[in-house]
Amino acid sequence: MFKLNENYLKLRGSYLFSTIAKKVASYSADNPDKELIRLGIGDVTRPLTPTVIHALHAAVDEMAAAETFRGYAPDLGYEFLRKAIAEHDFAGRGVSISPDEIFVSDGAKCDSGNIQEIFSADSKIAVCDPVYPVYVDTNVMAGRTGVFDETKEQWGDVIYMPCTAENNFTPALPEEVPDIIYLCSPNNPTGSALKKDALQQWVDYANKHGSVIIFDAAYEAYISEDDVPHSIYECTGAESCAIEIRSFSKNAGFTGVRLGYTVVPKALKASDGTALHSLWARRHGTKYNGAPYIQQRAGEAVYTKEGQEEVRALVSWYMENARLILDGLKEKGFEVSGGVNAPYIWLKTPNNMTSWEFFDYLLEKAGIVGTPGSGFGPSGEGYFRLTAFGSRENTVRAVERFKAL
Ligand code: PLP
Repeated sequence: MFKLNENYLKLRGSYLFSTIAKKVASYSADNPDKELIRLGIGDVTRPLTPTVIHALHAAVDEMAAAETFRGYAPDLGYEFLRKAIAEHDFAGRGVSISPDEIFVSDGAKCDSGNIQEIFSADSKIAVCDPVYPVYVDTNVMAGRTGVFDETKEQWGDVIYMPCTAENNFTPALPEEVPDIIYLCSPNNPTGSALKKDALQQWVDYANKHGSVIIFDAAYEAYISEDDVPHSIYECTGAESCAIEIRSFSKNAGFTGVRLGYTVVPKALKASDGTALHSLWARRHGTKYNGAPYIQQRAGEAVYTKEGQEEVRALVSWYMENARLILDGLKEKGFEVSGGVNAPYIWLKTPNNMTSWEFFDYLLEKAGIVGTPGSGFGPSGEGYFRLTAFGSRENTVRAVERFKAL
């Protein structure tokens, strides 16, 4: 009889957003007349921009003629897109990343989940608490997290770095040195962002101790403050200790189109001198058959002058929602943060309610669906996440409902 991978059997509960979806579905079934406003999941709602639509159509048309038809994409990505990325996302910021250090993929979720595969099974990982659940769950799948401690609600072998109001939701350098450090800035779920000097400290720490940083910059486009780096490679020495993961989902609205990329610099080497670049290329080429040509042309269009203007307008549009939520909740007396460099607003639950108590309260009293902070880790207990990705109308109505609580 076949046996299952025991690591998978250790996974805790269901994925956070599936739990919320089930809870909301059951509430809606019991209350069919209640109209809900969903500010829970970090999914975009605005349509694709004209430049992207045009590029998608043009790429589909190319597929109609034998001369321009495309089959399998190069597994590491088309040169035209890798060049556009290197030029706009890196050279444009004074950072030298060459196109062949960029691995195009179908998004940041897969990359942030898969990248751990190339590291030793006994690697020690460090994550922020609260954390984007993918980082920990994929390391559970890899058998790297030890035994779950029910009292702490944490995995025994994982170094959790609390991100609380006291440290402005930014992690402190851990005393016990991890092999792999996951950093997400701007952060999901807290909406905080690491300033340049803080990120430089992480890079120095990783280089000093021989750790690798997996830097998730999926929300890079939302940065509005000058001293927040858009790429970890803006920090000195990052190319020898950091992998960066990016996405087209939240800037260009590609959550359903699917496109992202990961940077593995050639200078990043393991202690025996093996370049991670060649290992990741080997893994990527073996398990992945390349992001579709059509999507990659759409990604290229994002970097045109018009594409960039449209992305900026899209991001500003969502950030106006963030501003409305922040201002409205502050006016009502909520303790709120985030929403300045990220499309997430992190609020303290009132009257010492737990995150799930507030979830139920908000659903019942205001018909608003948000995300309980404790779902992202124990330090998220007593907090709640709202997203700025709703429609303007729903955002305004949600703020009114909050004010009427
Ligand atoms: N990384 C973070 C921190 C995210 O919040 C998300 C999505 O919500 C992703 C990655 C996934 O991005 P993608 O749509 O590119 O898979």
